[in-house]
Amino acid sequence: MFELKCNDYGFECNYEIKGDKESVTEQFKAHVYEEHGIDYTKEAVTQFIRRKYPECK
Ligand SMILES: [Zn+2]
Repeated sequence: MFELKCNDYGFECNYEIKGDKESVTEQFKAHVYEEHGIDYTKEAVTQFIRRKYPECK
């Protein structure tokens, strides 16, 4: 299972998302766009997951 927290990426925000890689990527991307107005690419969010979970390619 993967988890991303908005707070870890410089936002003052309690949002966190857990789940499989694909759903975390999609939902985190959508949240950051809708709530913070930043349109990360899917690749950028995938990089966040890779950095946090380097053992999971
Ligand atoms: Zn947020």
